[in-house]
Amino acid sequence: MDAVTREQLRAEQRFEQHRKAQAAKPIPQSATECAECGNDIPESRRQAIKGVQLCTECQSLSEK
Ligand SMILES: [Zn+2]
Repeated sequence: MDAVTREQLRAEQRFEQHRKAQAAKPIPQSATECAECGNDIPESRRQAIKGVQLCTECQSLSEK
């Protein structure tokens, strides 16, 4: 596992914690395409992050 992958995992864990903090809200369906760029979101990412709307790239950009 390289540094980029570890950073990505941390980012997704932060996202997941943030999502759990909003548990009172209904969980949106995971998008099949990125809301920002329209790229396909991999099935593994959609499973890992319920309600994910952004691809890996746009997610990391939005957190900077
Ligand atoms: Zn994107």
